[in-house]
Amino acid sequence: MKIVLPLAKTELHQQLEVLLKRYRQRDRIYDEIQDAYGREHAGYQGEKQLDYYLHLANLKNTFSLAGLRLKWDKYYFQIDRMILTPSVCIIIESKNLKGEIILNEEDQLIQQTPDYQKSYENPYNQVKLQEKQLRHILNNLGYSNLPIHPLVVFTNKNAILNLGGKPDMIALHQLTFRIDHLIQNYPKIQTTSEINKLAHTLFKKHTRKLENILNRYKLNFYALQTGVICPNCERRKMARIHGTWICRHCKHQDRQAHIAALRDYATLINRIITNKEARRFLEIDSRNTIYRLFTKLNIPKIGNKKGTQYNLEKFLP
Ligand SMILES: [Zn+2]
Repeated sequence: MKIVLPLAKTELHQQLEVLLKRYRQRDRIYDEIQDAYGREHAGYQGEKQLDYYLHLANLKNTFSLAGLRLKWDKYYFQIDRMILTPSVCIIIESKNLKGEIILNEEDQLIQQTPDYQKSYENPYNQVKLQEKQLRHILNNLGYSNLPIHPLVVFTNKNAILNLGGKPDMIALHQLTFRIDHLIQNYPKIQTTSEINKLAHTLFKKHTRKLENILNRYKLNFYALQTGVICPNCERRKMARIHGTWICRHCKHQDRQAHIAALRDYATLINRIITNKEARRFLEIDSRNTIYRLFTKLNIPKIGNKKGTQYNLEKFLP
């Protein structure tokens, strides 16, 4: 299996991670941020597990795209995992629900845990809708004969599934065998090089979803902890002393600690920063110090003199 689009944390996941570290208050919003982060993180861990079971399947001459986000008509849709093979395009929707998962006669998915009961729309319908949208795109690209096979995979190992034995709504441990079975049973209709081409064409159409998490939680800059945070003890700030950063708390030293802070700024606030904004965020008084740090890091400049801005994109994953 060749990985064309590797699994990566979503923009939301990355922003929540930084926000959790830099949000000052321990209030209701902090709890919300923590919950949202927990969900994103668990989903990401679940999808990592998919990789393990996929690698056990017989996936020679196949291509994997994780989190592929495409646009059809006016709308975007995102496929958790696509496995492109010369015989079939398998699309996987992954669900990380815990507890007992039941599909009722009204086609609702019911999640039952000791603390709550929740209903969701049937995820199989969701992945069937993705199939419809993807069908249009594949047809337009000249792959109208390539079948699409949707699957729903429940990635939480502690879930108890009660779904009436549907072959395409499965637990993680069944994934390897299901994939092997599907690949054996669809006839080969494309060459590997044609499928390779398709994988790369779809990759070029992929658009990341951008988030503005400060807007989402109605937060401004002042809600955030500024400064360079110690990578060792994690919450305390570091002071800049004689050209290095020293933690006020654990005395850890790190000459490059400002890079992580700049990455936080780019993730949460803006990819573009001025000298003045950098002084405020890194808590450095001297214009010259910022100038020297940025020059040393070779950060691309936009404009000149007083209006100079710096592009922090290279610090983002
Ligand atoms: Zn420290």
